[in-house]
Amino acid sequence: MGMFENFFMKAKGAVDALGEKAGQFVDVSKLNIRVAELKSDLKNEFESLGKTVYNCEKNHIDAAQETNTFVSNIDNIYIQIEELKKQIAEMKNKVICKFCNSANENNAIYCGKCGKKLDNAIAESSKDEDDDFSEFED
Ligand SMILES: [Zn+2]
Repeated sequence: MGMFENFFMKAKGAVDALGEKAGQFVDVSKLNIRVAELKSDLKNEFESLGKTVYNCEKNHIDAAQETNTFVSNIDNIYIQIEELKKQIAEMKNKVICKFCNSANENNAIYCGKCGKKLDNAIAESSKDEDDDFSEFED
């Protein structure tokens, strides 16, 4: 019974860890997909702007009113892309706790939310040992 429970807990743990890893991957890739969508919107806006300017010129219509709308749409898309790129950069600089999934600063050793040791702490802990040695020498 104990062995079965142990196996079950191990299996569950492995699945949970997988799910959380996949979840954090999806978040960044979702943002990347959104950026790609916005870039395609941007292309469409530029194309429509070009067509509008062409039609206005051809029919001797003042294009200013029409082009203003496209210019503000395009500016709006640029702002959204910049915002998403900032978010992506931030996510890449964060360490996601595999226990509670909260984002921690890149140089954090322990999770700020659940207090468990973070994956990036391996290098940090060997540094700590060096510190201990220098203290011992003193
Ligand atoms: Zn945590």
